[in-house]
Amino acid sequence: MTEFPIHFEDRRAGQSKISKREILKAMLNLLRVAFRRCFVLPWSGKYRQIVNPLAAAECKHCQSLHSMELARNDTLTRRKCLHCGYQFDQKLEAA
Ligand SMILES: [Zn+2]
Repeated sequence: MTEFPIHFEDRRAGQSKISKREILKAMLNLLRVAFRRCFVLPWSGKYRQIVNPLAAAECKHCQSLHSMELARNDTLTRRKCLHCGYQFDQKLEAA
């Protein structure tokens, strides 16, 4: 078996195959995702639960703030303390 390196050279002639319409669509999609991340998701309950470190549960055994989620349903998350290994349930806030 022999390896042949692949050299990708920059285009020297010709035009991009992507249309102006596709470029516009991609730019609008970026704006849509940014808008959603800034103005929609922070107000949704489940997302707040994930990204807000203050919402992370404190270990009921050693009071550590460092735990990981093992499982969840609509009302509870089962968490495991990363310091002592204690497993506990955290009630999810109502969204
Ligand atoms: Zn702990």
